[in-house]
Amino acid sequence: MTGIKTMPYKILVAGFQHETNTFAPSKARYENFERGEGFPQLCRGDDLLKLRDVNIPVGGFLRQAQALDFQIVPVIWAGASPSAHVEKDAYERIAGEIIEATRRQKVDAIYLDLHGAMVAEHTDDGEGTLLARLRAVTGDALPIVASLDLHANVTEAMLRHADALTAYRTYPHVDMADTGARAAQLLNLRLQHGRLHQVSRRLPFLIPLNGMCTLLEPAQGFYKRLQALDSAEISLSFAPGFPAADFAECGPVLWGYGTDRDVLEQQVVALYDQLLSEEAQWEVPFLSPDQAVAQAMTIAAKSSRPVVIADTQDNPGAGGDANTTGMIKALLRNGAKNAAVGLIFDPEAVQVAVRAGVGAHIEISLGGQSGVPGDSPLQGCFEVLHLSNGQCHFDGPMMNGMFADVGPVACLGIDGVQIAVSSAKTQMLDRNLFRVAGIQPEDMSILVNKSSVHFRADFSPIAEQILVAKAPGPMVADPSDLPWRNLAPGIRMKPMGPVFQPCQRSKQ
Ligand SMILES: [Zn+2]
Repeated sequence: MTGIKTMPYKILVAGFQHETNTFAPSKARYENFERGEGFPQLCRGDDLLKLRDVNIPVGGFLRQAQALDFQIVPVIWAGASPSAHVEKDAYERIAGEIIEATRRQKVDAIYLDLHGAMVAEHTDDGEGTLLARLRAVTGDALPIVASLDLHANVTEAMLRHADALTAYRTYPHVDMADTGARAAQLLNLRLQHGRLHQVSRRLPFLIPLNGMCTLLEPAQGFYKRLQALDSAEISLSFAPGFPAADFAECGPVLWGYGTDRDVLEQQVVALYDQLLSEEAQWEVPFLSPDQAVAQAMTIAAKSSRPVVIADTQDNPGAGGDANTTGMIKALLRNGAKNAAVGLIFDPEAVQVAVRAGVGAHIEISLGGQSGVPGDSPLQGCFEVLHLSNGQCHFDGPMMNGMFADVGPVACLGIDGVQIAVSSAKTQMLDRNLFRVAGIQPEDMSILVNKSSVHFRADFSPIAEQILVAKAPGPMVADPSDLPWRNLAPGIRMKPMGPVFQPCQRSKQ
């Protein structure tokens, strides 16, 4: 239909990423997006083109766009660390710039680098609202394609207002740029072919974050099958969702686009049936902090490689504040030696360490500020082992090459445990985040990582074993433990788990 066009297609490009845990302690302000935190810093116009070589969706899109001879109109890219709701002001400023640019520019299509699980103070469906507003400006004919995170809570509004959506297929997310590239191909298919057929299915149960890891079954096998069904005319996606956003469309969704409706429907239904028949396998076992440390000590005693414990409930990549102390206390209580913990976000502790200097002993209460039941600061005398400016580049597979600035960093030692303390909240997803605190992760017996799954990309190659612990924290690992109010009635709150009943719960 538009295949006769000979001039390069002009594509408006923007990114707006946030993963919202509505149960988390802190909201996302405009400043959080400016800083970027675990993401690149907010950028506009031609600066956006510099993201080309970063392993994020827009990077992959820009590279593929060059191969497809698209002409890029760069607008804004903004992402912040997962947290509670995006403040209305931040949402309106960033979404407003994208909408305003769409109004001003005459383009052939729009590509958006979105997350898919954004909840703002004034809208439960951050992406659906943005897409609906864009649609109101562009009309129905202009193609809009977006890439999404694997943790997207895909909504009816998103499916209705976008011409195509495609999500990551890995967790740890090592295929972010690949997904952006796939979005470019999908956009090209849409431009060449005209509107594509869409088929989607919503699952009747939530999946815990840790159960979504694609290095393990059943996710690994499922995504392999999904990928094998993909072709030049069919694009399939499965987003198991982000099970900590309290609204009716929270949960896993499977969907796809294709030029042949029957073939597409057949494939989506086959994958959906597989998900339903394997429901029980998506559940995961968790250890208590003491169980995890005891197991780690036993394993580490017979190995020269570190045992890694995921402190999953304080994962700042899912809304934690990265300052709970439950795992450090368990290490100390059990007498673990040659252990390291990172990153604890406590700028005040870093300042005290900086003033005291390397080699000094400081008496402080560390972390424990998020007010989670069962968590408290760790009072103690710490030796300042190392200080740095907190700047490094990521060498691991996730966001490879990205420059990170976690602010001044201190390594604090106490009874054989080294704690990497940072001035900015960042998920431990790259080994260099330990190195920036003077800790060589390969030389440690036990590593405790503030992360749920992402750390596996860079830490699996050095780990003797990986354990997952549930210390008190804001990112509740078992979704059926959360005080839900607004889920869809009848959805199971974990695989094979209890059914959500809104009336009973709201009376509690
Ligand atoms: Zn994600």
